[in-house]
Parts: sequence; structure tokens; C-alpha cells
Amino acid sequence: MQNADYIIRGEYVLPMDDARTVIKNGAVVIRGSKIADTGSFDEISKKYSSKNIITGNNKAVMPGLINTHTHAAMVYFRGIADDLPLKEWLEKYIWPAENKWLSPEFVSDATELACLEMLKAGITTYNDMYFFEDASGKAAKKIGMRAVLGAGIVDFPTIAGKGADDYLEKAERFIKHWTKDALISPCIAPHSVYACAPETLKRSKDLADKYSVPIHIHLSEAKWEVKDVQKKYGKRPVEHLHDLGFLDECIIAAHCVWVDEREIEMLAKHKVGVSHCIESNLKLGSGIAPVPRMLKAGIKVTFGTDGAASNNDMNILSEMSTAAKVHKAVSNDPTALDARTALLMATRWGAESLGLGEITGSIEKGKAADIVIMNLDKPHLTPLYDIYSHIVYSAMASDVETVFVNGKLVVDKGNLCAADEGEIISKAREWRSKIR
Ligand SMILES: [Zn+2]
Repeated sequence: MQNADYIIRGEYVLPMDDARTVIKNGAVVIRGSKIADTGSFDEISKKYSSKNIITGNNKAVMPGLINTHTHAAMVYFRGIADDLPLKEWLEKYIWPAENKWLSPEFVSDATELACLEMLKAGITTYNDMYFFEDASGKAAKKIGMRAVLGAGIVDFPTIAGKGADDYLEKAERFIKHWTKDALISPCIAPHSVYACAPETLKRSKDLADKYSVPIHIHLSEAKWEVKDVQKKYGKRPVEHLHDLGFLDECIIAAHCVWVDEREIEMLAKHKVGVSHCIESNLKLGSGIAPVPRMLKAGIKVTFGTDGAASNNDMNILSEMSTAAKVHKAVSNDPTALDARTALLMATRWGAESLGLGEITGSIEKGKAADIVIMNLDKPHLTPLYDIYSHIVYSAMASDVETVFVNGKLVVDKGNLCAADEGEIISKAREWRSKIR
């Protein structure tokens, strides 16, 4: 008998492999930070013993969900301005609020709340774009989340920097600092083609190439962006990036709502990952990304919540559900995005598009133990014919019971392990009374 740190048993274990196997009465073995084995509970219990066997009836065990586009610290601006178009929302409310309030302390406190919200919704990895990312990294590590943190780059001065040179310098320092961390991977986040000149985009790309880190950018989110870029450069946004030599598989592009067939081909050819943020796009009235067409072209489309100020929550379960339904409706085709594909996009593809495919995104021997256990003993999950259907169309964040990240128990029976939830929430309320 081999010793294991944890054995997790589930009525349904979803490894998220190519065949979309479902292991009935399955088990996952955790040793240290990694998944040591997986299989039927009967097999596993003959080979391994552990003091910590997590079991119970009606549990689903799956890889942690991956949020491929967010601005975690924006949780503190949740509900501060709603029901406005993107440009007005950004320029009149969000950027001024950020310029007044952002600081390492703000980002650290807000990131703790964001991580709490995400973990409790079964998200174990998030891809961030913001300022003061050192503070964000420390907070995410404290709570125990895996994160790809993008040092924000824009051409204009903000509370976090003076201009492109300054942001790029800070980004380089940030990358060097976090490059060997087990949970935090650094990345570079030039905001968009409208907030970064071609020169800034090229310098960001050079820096990313120098350190082999991903680039995280907003792309073709709103109609006006396409119009502005066309007016300025005579090209559409994707074409503009393509001609700058910017596109490759290390790019994760958020939104891609207004892309034409040629641009879809360019994104596919260069293996750019697309983060689909349907709820943010719906709420800001930005439009609906042509996801079924992008999937057909072979693009790895994944899910992002965007910041909580434009969503207004951080819940990949609901992104999957909304996306799967909206794309059926707009294409008049109920097969446009099925539940199995949606869960693959939210797990393995998410990890792969962030360059973490070897590390997380599926339940496989040797991968990090980033695992979510859901309680299926709920009225809205009964009866059960197809586990994929329930996870995508019926499950809620409150069904997430237990979460592991890198082999560590981070949410135990619905409660955060690393910090006091009450304190995180009171801190958020204190900030709100100041921001107000
Ligand atoms: Zn965004």
C-alpha cells in the first residue's frame, strides 16, 4: 500500500481528457502538490491508503475552472456604475475611480475578496490584467490561488505609472521577480490597440519574447474600437496586430466580439487564444462574439469573467451556461455550443491557452492537484442523467464544496482555509465607505 496525502472519492470523476471520460465511483489520489493517480475507487483503495479520504454520496470531482480574463481587484468597483456603454463606463467612471483609489493596499485587499469569490465558485486559476500586480501576487498566494498576472501597460499616465517606458520597466521587474513561483506566473498586459501605440505593442511583444511569458490584451471588444482603429491605421484591430507581427500562440486576446472572417482566419492561423467574456459583453451592450465560427476555425476559445465591475460577478459556471444558451439562440442552432465542449473550454483549454497545459486544466497523473468537488445533493441537480449537462446548465457556485489548488486544501466544505472570510468581507465594506 502506498501512502497518499488525500484520496478523493466521487460518484463522478471528470478527468477532462480527449474522450471526455466519466469515471463512475472514481477516485483521485493527491501526493504533495500533484495528482498521483486516478481511477475507480475500488482500484485506488487497493493501492493507496490515506488519513484523509474525502468521500460522501453524490459528489462530482473535476479540474478547477480557469478564468482566462479578469481584472480581479476591480471587485471593489462592483456595482459602482452600471447600465452604460463601454466607452462612457470606462472614461467617466472606471478610469477616474481607479486613478483616485488604486494603490498596492487597495489591490491586495480587493484581490483577496476576488480570490475568495472565485475559489468558492470553483475557479482555481485566473488570468489577470491590472496595475500593482506585485500586491495582487502576494494576495493570491496568501489565499492559495493559481494566477497568471499581467502587468498593465498603457500609453498615458495613471496612478500606477507615468507612461509606456515606466510601465514597461515595471513589467520587466515584475516578470523577473515572479518567474519561478509555483502559483504565480507573470505576463505582460498591453491594455488594447486603442490604449497602446504600435511602438508600445512591439516593445511589449519583445519583452514577452525575451522572458517567454504570455501576452494578455483586450481585442475588438466594441464596435467603436474597430472604427477608431480603422480610421487611425486603415486596418481592423486583428489585422493591425497581425501586421505588427504581434500574433502567436502566446497571446491571449479577450473579447474578439467584432472579428470578420479574415480576422478569424488570422487568429486561427497564429493559434491565438480567445477569452470569451459573454456576460461582460452582454451587460456593456458590446455585442456577441462569433464563438461557434471561431471554434469551427480551430481557435481555442475559453471563458473569462472580465472585471466584476462589468459582469458583476466572477463565476465561470454561469459564463458557461450563458454562453452555451446565447450562442444557440443567436445561431438558431441548439448544437452551436454543447455542454461537453463548454466544460472543456472552461478547464483544459483554459490552462493550455495560458501556457499552463502541462501543469493544470485536467485530472491527470503528474499534473498539479487543482481540483473541485461539487455537491450534487441539491434539488436543482436532481435527477441526474448527464453530469456534463448539470455542471453547465444547472450547477451554481454554491454547489462547490471543496477546492484544492496545487495539492493544498483551500476551500473545505464551503469555507476558505487560508484566511478569515468575515475579515475579507469587512475590509471590502470599509473600502466601500471610503470610495463612496
Ligand atoms: Zn477586461
